[in-house]
Amino acid sequence: MKDCIFCKIINKEIPASIVYEDSNVISFLDIMPANKGHCLVIPKKHYETLLDIPGENLSELIKAVKNITKALSLSIGNGAYNMVMNNGEDAGQLVQHAHIHIIPRFKGDRLRLSWSHKKYGNKEIEEYKENIKKFL
Ligand code: 5GP
Ligand code: ZN
Repeated sequence: MKDCIFCKIINKEIPASIVYEDSNVISFLDIMPANKGHCLVIPKKHYETLLDIPGENLSELIKAVKNITKALSLSIGNGAYNMVMNNGEDAGQLVQHAHIHIIPRFKGDRLRLSWSHKKYGNKEIEEYKENIKKFL
């Protein structure tokens, strides 16, 4: 898609440190890493969010995520990582081309991905359960 920074990386219009590429998926280092080694894995076709990616493309994407995570862990010598996917502006998605972050973690790295915990009111958790189930 025109004006999409990740499509430009896919089309080699702008440079990126590409660690993996096949016909459907590409992965490169995040230019502003949460920790060094932070990789992004994206489908080559322009989909905006997780829900836009068809099932077969999604399974290829997630398999690539697993392989890249393994290689990243072996290259850095750690086994801890966060997999993050921001979907939608309110969730912090800045680039509107679906992407999965793989962020290597290190003891005491002080990286914060934590959130405060909310509380359900009386029976509210059951209402949430029933409402979600209606759409499945
Ligand atoms: P989001 O907030 O959309 O989940 O994350 C987008 C990520 O893309 C950010 O972590 C940002 O550093 C990264 N990013 C944005 N522009 C570029 C770029 O031109 N090259 C690379 N390698 N990463 C980018
Ligand atoms: Zn794109």
